[in-house]
Formats: sequence, structure tokens, C-alpha cells
Amino acid sequence: MKITFIGAVQTVTGSMHLLEVNDKRILLDCGLYQGKRKIAYELNKNFPFDPAEIDILSLSHAHIDHSGNIPTLVKMGFKGKIFATSATVDLCEIMLLDSAHIQEKDVEFVNIKREKQGKNLFEPLYTQDDAMRALEHFVPVPYEKKIELCSGVEITYHDAGHLLGSAVTTINITENGSKKRLVFTGDLGRKGMPILKDPTPIHNVDYLITESTYGDRIHSPEKDVKAHLADLIMKIALNRAKLIIPAFSVGRTQTIVYFLNQLYNEGRIPQVPVFVDSPLSTKATEIYSRHEDCFDAEALEMMMNGVSPFTFKTLEYIEDVEESKKLNRMDGPMVIITASGMCESGRILHHLANNIENRHNIILIIGFQAENTLGRKLVDGEKNVRIFGDEYRVMATVEVIDALSSHPDKNEFIEYFDNIETKLEGVFVVHGEVSQSEALAKTMESRYNCSTIVPSPGDTIEI
Ligand SMILES: [Zn+2]
Repeated sequence: MKITFIGAVQTVTGSMHLLEVNDKRILLDCGLYQGKRKIAYELNKNFPFDPAEIDILSLSHAHIDHSGNIPTLVKMGFKGKIFATSATVDLCEIMLLDSAHIQEKDVEFVNIKREKQGKNLFEPLYTQDDAMRALEHFVPVPYEKKIELCSGVEITYHDAGHLLGSAVTTINITENGSKKRLVFTGDLGRKGMPILKDPTPIHNVDYLITESTYGDRIHSPEKDVKAHLADLIMKIALNRAKLIIPAFSVGRTQTIVYFLNQLYNEGRIPQVPVFVDSPLSTKATEIYSRHEDCFDAEALEMMMNGVSPFTFKTLEYIEDVEESKKLNRMDGPMVIITASGMCESGRILHHLANNIENRHNIILIIGFQAENTLGRKLVDGEKNVRIFGDEYRVMATVEVIDALSSHPDKNEFIEYFDNIETKLEGVFVVHGEVSQSEALAKTMESRYNCSTIVPSPGDTIEI
């Protein structure tokens, strides 16, 4: 067996690894590399293999940095099946189309400039038609069901608890009479997070490919996110102000809606209107509602008691642009949850431009903010920011809740891997900045007395 580590290696974007076993070529994930436009475009367009020679793709979860380059793979000749859990297949339907739409818009924007300069026009990485064609290759697989990918290779998806449908994949390999078990964590979740089940423990692992996003961090100890949220809502209710929450459409938006729903039903917040202002969030929430098979005991109990986790009396989902614009003219109090999560694009920009200069308003940051993003500038306390080219004074209060991370920290990784119990032969640490990957590799080496490697992009390892 050979493993080539292609993407999300010493970085967190573009997850992709190639497994060569029994003369078959199996791809684990096919993520979109996200970064500077030109570099990203070239990397995503040029696979280091011929896509037509890949036999099978196994997808860990729907996040775009794991699934987002599948339409390119299919466009360039991949003919095989794409295995994923049923919720992942459903989420990919909306996320790949949304990603294609962004690719098309992005190139349109670049081409306006290039046309004026008399330069060749770019093609989008892929179109919505390409995404539709890619979706035809998907095969949904239930959790905990063993599937034979090809002769001598069986996979099982276990709930990773990271995103609806996310999976830790165990791969049982029989090659030349010897048996080995390889596990690919994909992105791991955390215990005790809302809506989703805890990550399923794994046992008897020979080789492990693990993510390491927060391999060297300890998460915020904030236990009572709901109390924090309730406090902010009381404040905006009192001041007839707005609480603006930038949130990723898939995952974080549903978590916040779920908490607000509980607070509302427990009578801990006044009847303030709540708007989820994003077409993708609305569609994603519909998919969440269909997959109660992925819910934890608390979310299921809510449903048994006749409470739908993602709807309540004062909550409204908005898809239409005109309806979204109306929110600007309405007085508070109100809560607006909208994308993008890092305040880089989408409707959040309009809401910030309209509300950031009012000292009664609150902007609540609930997710990781990458360097140089508007979200990061707000967290860093910058007093003036640019939105659509204009300068705005940050008069609104910026609040941060950073206890909602959907990746484990250093201690949570160890707690999870302690379940393995058998001797690990080899650990490959991927999906993390170098410092995070190296720290996790070191921790695992000393705790489990196993050989660990932080591969470089393109490294091939023969087992
Ligand atoms: Zn993820």
C-alpha cells in the first residue's frame, strides 16, 4: 500500500490523499484549496495525477475544503463512484452548487478587468453544470455499514461529530495476504457539542491519518454559551438595538439557531425577532432537519417533545434579496444571523455597513477569523474599518464567543485516541499549520510510543 499526501498537508485547506492498493487508486477527499486567487486557481486546476486513472473517491464530509474540488476532478475525467454518508451527499448538493456559483462570479469579476486590458479571459474552475454532473457520481452509505470498495479494501464510516454527516473512515486492507487497518479522521468533532453526536470511538488501528487543526491549543473554557447569548439579547432588547452574528451557513448557523430556540422555549429571552438571512443557510437548515439520525440525545428529546430544533415563533428564514434589504429599514430589537462567517463577502457586509456605527448594536463573532479578514479586524478591536471601499467607525460593541470550535484541542485529541488501545504502527499528521501538526505528532509519539510523520505536500509513504 502506498499513501501520497497531496493536500491539507502542513496547512488546513485542500484535503486530499491518494491510496494505492491492490492496483487500485483510491482518493480520500478532494478538497478545494482556498487561498490567494492565482495560486488557488492553479493548484485546484492541476491535479498531480490523471483524474481518469482514479478508481474511487471516499469523502469524509461536505466542507468545501474537503469536497470542493470534486467537480474539477469529474470534469477532468474521473469516472468512478464517490462514497459518502447520506447527510454528506445531501449537503454536497447545495454546497457544490454554491461553490460553482462563487467560481463563476469570481471569474466574471476578474474577466471585466482582463477584457479592458486586452488579456485572455479566464474560464471558471468549474460551473454549476459541472457540479450537477459531479453529483451523479455520489453513492450514499449509512454509518457503521461495511462497504467493499474493491477487492481487499473495505471501508466503514463512523460519526465524527464535526459537521452533519461527517465521518471518521476505517479502511480494512488485505494485500498480499496481510491485513492492516488504516483510519482517516477527516475533521474530528468534539464531545458535548450541540445537535450532533459525540465522535464515535475507534479501536484496533494500525495506521492513522489524523487532522491537527488545533493540535497545540487548549480551547476556551467558557461552559455557558447560552447564558452569554441570553445576556446579549437582553441588552439589545433593552436598547431596541440589533445583534448581528456573522456565521458560516452550514454548521455554525444551525448551532446558534438551536441555542436561541432553547433560550426562547425556556423563557430566558424576550420575544425578539430573529432572522437567518442567507439562502444557503436556509437550505442547509432544511437538510439538518431531515437528518435526525445524526442528532444527539438532547436534540432528539427536543423533537420527541414536539419542538423542532430549527424553528420557533420569532424566527424567520430569508432567501430573497429584497426581503434582506428590508431589514436595514426596520428598527430593533432584532437578531440577524448571516454569512459569510469571516465578514469577507455576502449579506453580512450590508448589515455591518448599516449598523456598525450605532453604539447600541452588538456584533457577535462566533467562529475562527483568519488573518486580514474584516472579522479579524473587528476581533482585534480596530476602530475604523473599510466596507465596500468606504470607511466606517466601529461604534457597535464587538463580542466574541470562541467556545464553539468544531475541532478538538490537544487534550481532546488524546482523550479520543486513548480509545484505540492497540499499538499504533504509524501516525501521519495532516490538516494543520506546521506548528500545530508538529506539536500533535510530538504529543502522540511520546504518549503512544509510535512513529509519527508530518508529511510534506506530495510525499509518498509505502507501508
Ligand atoms: Zn470540516
